[in-house]
Amino acid sequence: MSDRDRSGEPASAPSLELSDSQRAAIARLARDEVIIPPPIELAREAYLRTDAIERMHALGDPERFWADKANQLDWIEPFDKVLEFEAPNHRWFVGGKLNASVNCIDRHVYSDRRNKAAIIWVGEDGEEHTYTYNRLYREVNRFGNALRRMGVKRGDRVILYMPLVPEGIVTMLACARIGAIHSVVYAGMGTAALKSRIEDCAAKVIVCSDWTMRRGRQLPLKPTVDEAVRDLTFVEHVVVHRRGSRPGDAPVQFDSEREHDFYDVQAAREIHCEPEAMDSEDPLFILYTSGTTGKPKGVVHVTGGYLTGVHYLARAFYQIGERDIYWSTSDIGWIVGHSFIVYGPLSIGATVFCREGVPDYPSPDVTWELCERFGVNIMFTAPTAVRMWMSHGGDVPSKYDLSRLRLIACAGEPLNPEAHLWAQKYLAGQSKGFVVDNWWQTEVAAPVLGTLPTYEARPGKVGKPMPGVVADVVDANGHPLPDGHGGLLVLRRPLPYMLRTVWGDAARYEKYWEQVPGCYSAGDIAVRDRDGYFAVLGRSDDVLNVAGHRIGTADVEGSLLRHASVAESAVIGLPDALKGERIKAFVVLKPGVTAGPGLVSSLKDHVRQDLGPIAQPSDIELRPSLPKTRSGKIVRRYLKAVEMGEDPGDLSTLAD
Ligand code: AMP
Repeated sequence: MSDRDRSGEPASAPSLELSDSQRAAIARLARDEVIIPPPIELAREAYLRTDAIERMHALGDPERFWADKANQLDWIEPFDKVLEFEAPNHRWFVGGKLNASVNCIDRHVYSDRRNKAAIIWVGEDGEEHTYTYNRLYREVNRFGNALRRMGVKRGDRVILYMPLVPEGIVTMLACARIGAIHSVVYAGMGTAALKSRIEDCAAKVIVCSDWTMRRGRQLPLKPTVDEAVRDLTFVEHVVVHRRGSRPGDAPVQFDSEREHDFYDVQAAREIHCEPEAMDSEDPLFILYTSGTTGKPKGVVHVTGGYLTGVHYLARAFYQIGERDIYWSTSDIGWIVGHSFIVYGPLSIGATVFCREGVPDYPSPDVTWELCERFGVNIMFTAPTAVRMWMSHGGDVPSKYDLSRLRLIACAGEPLNPEAHLWAQKYLAGQSKGFVVDNWWQTEVAAPVLGTLPTYEARPGKVGKPMPGVVADVVDANGHPLPDGHGGLLVLRRPLPYMLRTVWGDAARYEKYWEQVPGCYSAGDIAVRDRDGYFAVLGRSDDVLNVAGHRIGTADVEGSLLRHASVAESAVIGLPDALKGERIKAFVVLKPGVTAGPGLVSSLKDHVRQDLGPIAQPSDIELRPSLPKTRSGKIVRRYLKAVEMGEDPGDLSTLAD
């Protein structure tokens, strides 16, 4: 039998051999437990002061529980059934119709939040723009009309290749308004990554910005788009957001007829765009994430269930209220940006603060200076960012008044206890604020495990299941493991805010529910303590987490194989003090190729161009051969154990 099945994923269940370092992590967590009680005021004012009762409702009558949450949205037509579930398929709020942009904008425009700031945007160079809900309404409606004029219809796919700029948020909401399915490709990805995503979803329209800003430099984006769409004739329009221009400027003449100027197409005066009444189960967006094959994996989220989840958890977990200034340091290219820059906080009517650029440029002061200036109350950030701030020392944030910052939520990768304690002391300490961890993923678009502000925080552990979540830790055969034993993290019930399918690849979707029949397998290794707190220790598959970004080993290996000199490649993740994990690649050269002095840097550049900077290996080792099983499968586990100085385990299956 071949190693790969019809969907291209490994056919066998991943073995559950924990590495030495994972075992050491479990022992450390059991030994050195630190407990941080929640600040009294935060706990007293928490949205779920009595989460035990909420949890009871959710377990006792899950359908009623989720119906109550869904009813906090505005529905065009009410749903008549809460859930239809036959694993792996689940449909929520069946028969209901709604529109996501109406829930994020119109419901505020027809209230006293009309002139309140929806988005405060700051550029890396200090440029500032504020969008009130009223302005957001007009811009979204206009761009929705523009897309309709271009022939975009309900169900058509629109790819965005834009940095964190208000026009990106406008485009997402305009798609939602007319029922087009948006798919944002992070504007740091390279040509091959962008092209494969455009092809996979057969996008009719691409909306891009002409450049993005990084560390004081303009990085062009348009050439990447030009290259990606050159021979894709099915792409009918490319809309270019020219960042140097403003609404009303004369449009430029583009070389190609299918290219248009963002502000030009948006210029028509009609400001109402009739929202499509979307079925609850109609896709809202596709977001590509890394799997264990190099093929793009388009996670599909649907309108009703997704919006119900992000609306509920923006309040219940992140404590976002309409009076808050909330800042997520993520980007619209990731799931955090979808759920908790755009749909969650806007559905509540909060003010979303966002900034383009990295959080330590032009100086490590910038984040805290902005928090002070804008009075940020709630922040969502990544452990990598915390470790970076930590490396600059606690004196930097201590210079600023962070007394309004009451909650800092971290997600995307393990938050190590040292970084947690540092953030609690220096970032949250001034305000009696609280640092909380939370676990989720592109496939489950809002918190699943986390530390609610009524719980004590236990650094190194994420927290407990959110109300409505039934999580477990199991062995490779799906048998529940006792507390304190590491195993696969599974969810025993579907959630409304979970993916419904993988775009164009139902078999690949089914994999999530096959490994442990009837359960959703998250692909992570976790352990639960006797009090019900989970710690997530990393992936169980060939996916790396570099600075909070999921990168498939197969993507990087595939890119290396596209280099003219490479015959074989294998990629592993190694621990990194700042980024959590870093990429190391092992490469076998083609016969006759000799390793000249520039070869390794040419290989690195190649991956960077192809996939983007986040996927570039930090280290490449040239080898005469790679360790393989007798059936020819590369044994990355062996390479990793050798690098880490650990026991490589049973080698009897190795060919050589
Ligand atoms: P993504 O889909 O790119 O957001 O990546 C999701 C993956 O990141 C999860 O499957 C985990 O491996 C990891 N992850 C996310 N949040 C946490 C967390 N709080 N602790 C540990 N790992 C996390």
